[in-house]
Amino acid sequence: MKIPRAIQQTIESFERLPGVGPKTAQRLAFYLLHVPQVELDRFAASVSNLKKNTVLCSRCFSIDETNPCSICSDSKRDQTVICVVEQPLDVLALEKSGHYHGVYHVLHGKIDPLNNIGPDEIRIGELVRRVRAASADGSGEPMEIILATNPTMEGEATAMYLAKQLKNGEPRAESGELKISRIGRGLPTGADLEYADPTTLDRAMDGRSHY
Ligand SMILES: [Zn+2]
Repeated sequence: MKIPRAIQQTIESFERLPGVGPKTAQRLAFYLLHVPQVELDRFAASVSNLKKNTVLCSRCFSIDETNPCSICSDSKRDQTVICVVEQPLDVLALEKSGHYHGVYHVLHGKIDPLNNIGPDEIRIGELVRRVRAASADGSGEPMEIILATNPTMEGEATAMYLAKQLKNGEPRAESGELKISRIGRGLPTGADLEYADPTTLDRAMDGRSHY
């Protein structure tokens, strides 16, 4: 017996998702055959609208419904503190703890030479320009950049690279007006920020060390 085309296509779609193997993809596709049509339509519509109804913030590169995002445009957030994370999900994790009142910069990845991801493949240049622009606009306000990339080998390497780039030719780094810090230990090594619980994240934020 041949699997009907519609089922085969659904299986193939699921197989493209991370962490889903052929067996799981098959099981999910056959499971959906039992779901009422109206629910299937809703499911399909939500996937279809996922990108149409979201936008990348042109300032911090987080994902939201508006540009600038709700965090960047919130006047109660401290615009002089920028927390740098790898993924939009990390923003969600840090927001859940509710103690951070600065803004963010989402890199959309990490430097990962083994997978051919260099500094130019992620949003490092945008961060450097953002910090330089804030230095140049004459407001002269001290800034802090918190490097909150994951405590993995690639995350550490990315943080070190960023610290160097941000300090390079930046007069405010020498005068101490530009502080660069790394999110504290206490986060399990090799783990992703998005899986850390709010208390651990709070502690990591409080225990940050300065470059
Ligand atoms: Zn934003």
